[in-house]
Amino acid sequence: MEANNQKDDIPAISFTSVRKSYEQEGQTYDVLKAVTGDIQQGAIVAVLGPSGSGKSTLLSMCNLMKTPDHGEVKIYGKEVRDWNVNKLRRTAALAFQSAPVLDGTVRDNLSLVQKLHQTQLYSPEELASLTGLSPELLDRSAKDLSGGQLQRLSLARTLANPSSILLLDEITSALDPVSALEIEELIKKQHQEKKLTVMWVTHNMEQAKRVADTIWFMADGRLLEIAETDTFFSRPQHEAAREFLKGGTR
Ligand code: ADP
Ligand code: MG
Repeated sequence: MEANNQKDDIPAISFTSVRKSYEQEGQTYDVLKAVTGDIQQGAIVAVLGPSGSGKSTLLSMCNLMKTPDHGEVKIYGKEVRDWNVNKLRRTAALAFQSAPVLDGTVRDNLSLVQKLHQTQLYSPEELASLTGLSPELLDRSAKDLSGGQLQRLSLARTLANPSSILLLDEITSALDPVSALEIEELIKKQHQEKKLTVMWVTHNMEQAKRVADTIWFMADGRLLEIAETDTFFSRPQHEAAREFLKGGTR
C-alpha cells in the first residue's frame, strides 16, 4: 500500500483556500471559491451538491488532473505539485463517469496499470470478477461495452492500483439500482480490507446515506457544510442544503 505508512493524524486529503476560475467569452467564472477542508485517513466522504457546484473540479485536483489557481491541495501532508505524478496517481486513484477507454480489448485495458507502473494488485480476471464484468467480455473490444460496463471497467482499472485513497466521481450513474448496490458493497469491502480513504462524488442521496460517514455539501463553488451523514440529512444548516435535499436544485 503506497503512502499508507503515514502518521495517522495527517489528513489523507487537505484543501486550503482552493480557488479555480475559467475564462469563457471574456467572462470569468469562479468554479471554486476558497474551498478549505480536510478528509481524515479512513473516512468515506460523500460530496454532494447541485450540478455545476464544483464537485468534479475539486476531486480532480487531488491527483493533478487539474490544478488550483490559488491555494493548496495536500495528499498525506504533501502538496500535490510536489509529488511525482505517477506516484501520486497510484496513491490517489480516480474513477469517473466517462473514463476514456483504450483501443483494444477489455483485457488490454485492465493490464494498463501493469504496463504503466510494473505493478498490479489483481489479474484482469480478478478485476473483472471484483467489479461484476463477466469473463467473456475480457476479449471483446472495450469500445463495444455498454455505459454500465464501461463504469465497471473504469472502476476495475482504478482498483488495479495499490492506492490508499479512492476518488470516485459518479461511478454508478449509468448502473441500475441493483448493480449500484453491488458496487457500493465492493467499495465498502475494499475500504474495510485496505483501510482506504474514499472521496465519493454522488448525486444519489440514498447512496450517500448508505456509504458515507461524512457529507461535504457544495453549492456555487463553496464548501458550505461539513457534517456527519445523519446530522446532514436530519438537520442541514444552510438554506441551500435544505433546498437541495427537497430536490429543488439537483
Ligand atoms: P459538478 O461536478 O459539481 O457538476 P464541475 O466541477 O464539473 O461541477 O464544474 C463546475 C463548473 O465549472 C461548471 O459550471 C462547469 O461548466 C465549469 N467548467 C468545468 N470545467 C470547465 C472548463 N474546462 N472550461 C469552462 N468551464 C468549465
Ligand atoms: Mg461532476
